[in-house]
Amino acid sequence: MSDSDCLFCRIVAGDIPSTQVLNNDHVLAFRDIAPQAPVHIVVIPKAHFANIVELGAGDATQAGELMAAISTIATQEDLADGFRVVFNTGSDGGQTVEHVHAHVLAGRSLTWPPG
Ligand code: AMP
Ligand code: ZN
Repeated sequence: MSDSDCLFCRIVAGDIPSTQVLNNDHVLAFRDIAPQAPVHIVVIPKAHFANIVELGAGDATQAGELMAAISTIATQEDLADGFRVVFNTGSDGGQTVEHVHAHVLAGRSLTWPPG
């Protein structure tokens, strides 16, 4: 998939606007357009990987940077009461955008198991 075909690559490029939460050399985080919780942030590597399997197998530095960004966001957004990190993957996982992303969900008590 080329960058121009990928929604999140287009957000990284600035072609599609987003409400940024974090932006560094490796990672962009922005508010989800359809939030499922009072805090719902999408965290992505700027480089394109289709899903967490490709990211995990492909680039340990990028994977580590993604985790570090989630840690920074937890502090920045004051998520001391807790939060959930979700990587929807593939059709059974409910992934709709094929550029790996972590959902950071917080601001309410989250139920388990998920649907
Ligand atoms: P997933 O279904 O796990 O692939 O997650 C994709 C997420 O991207 C969904 O939660 C969407 O609401 C979100 N999303 C789609 N388009 C945008 C956008 N332009 N800005 C912010 N979030 C978006
Ligand atoms: Zn992409």
